[in-house]
Amino acid sequence: MAATVSETLLAWYDRHARDLPWRARPGAAPPDPYRVWLSEVMLQQTTVAAVKPYFAAFTARWPDVEALAAAPEDDVMAAWAGLGYYSRARNLVKCARAVAERGGFPATEADLRELPGLGAYTAAAVAAIAFGQRAVVVDANVERVVARLFAIEDPLPGARKAIRSAADSITPDRRAGDFAQAMMDLGATVCTARDPRCLLCPLAQACAARAAGDPARLPVKAPRKPKPLRQGRAFWIERDGAVWLVRRAGTGMLGGMRALPDDGWSAQGDGSADPPLAGAWECAGVVRHVFTHAALELSVLVQRDAPQPAGPGEWWPLDRIEEAGLPTLFAKAARLVRAS
Ligand code: SF4
Repeated sequence: MAATVSETLLAWYDRHARDLPWRARPGAAPPDPYRVWLSEVMLQQTTVAAVKPYFAAFTARWPDVEALAAAPEDDVMAAWAGLGYYSRARNLVKCARAVAERGGFPATEADLRELPGLGAYTAAAVAAIAFGQRAVVVDANVERVVARLFAIEDPLPGARKAIRSAADSITPDRRAGDFAQAMMDLGATVCTARDPRCLLCPLAQACAARAAGDPARLPVKAPRKPKPLRQGRAFWIERDGAVWLVRRAGTGMLGGMRALPDDGWSAQGDGSADPPLAGAWECAGVVRHVFTHAALELSVLVQRDAPQPAGPGEWWPLDRIEEAGLPTLFAKAARLVRAS
């Protein structure tokens, strides 16, 4: 079955590969490892459509890993704003600096894994796609295709080991990068989460879930625990056409990002700190946002013609607020205040 699956899938990929800016055409020389790595980091937890403009902006501004390595971390964080999961941007800079220092990306999965902030998935994807190395590349799309192909009934996340081992059994030695991308494409365009299009699927003959009926049932997911709801307050302090922004601590949620001052809310608890200024605050409304480990209701309190708060921060001109690199939560808060 393994040889048939990989050959059939590669033949399908040769005709149906998605045309993506970080890719080489099927069968062509492998693409630049920098572009493969950058796209894979951006694509974690994010859609292709959301990533495309960021990828274009990053590669125009920092066309190679040396350029990204030389960039101030603040600039990279600001350019990343809106893509979410900001620890990825910090790790991106660390990794770029390590790669530039060693004179380029290593070519094997094991050596790639040694780079700072580069996880198991990204190491496998870069080794396969950029260096043609045989590596087992399992993202959420591949997980779904494999669980269905082999009718793996165990719920996720516990089923990951069995899925990985099944994926290993069909990964070919030749064209490993194309095979990985073919699996990703099949999951994204044919074997979709809710509505698998089995009639169009090149692997239909080999698919155990299709034979058993109702493939959309797989993969089974263990019920998620509801996320805790946290309450917090953010403070919009305005004076002379500018708003007071602070820099969040380097670690923790939205670490190192520019932000509005807040009352110390976190994934672990509600905020309780005093406002940064005495005086009367007016509530502009509430912003809701969902993080990985918690949901947040953030009340946005406003003081205009305010004095400068104590402590570090900067007055940021309101007419250039889009350039502050505010993460999505605070960008929402800014829109709320400006609309009020
Ligand atoms: S036959 Fe259907 S369920 Fe099986 S891999 Fe193809 S699209 Fe997915």
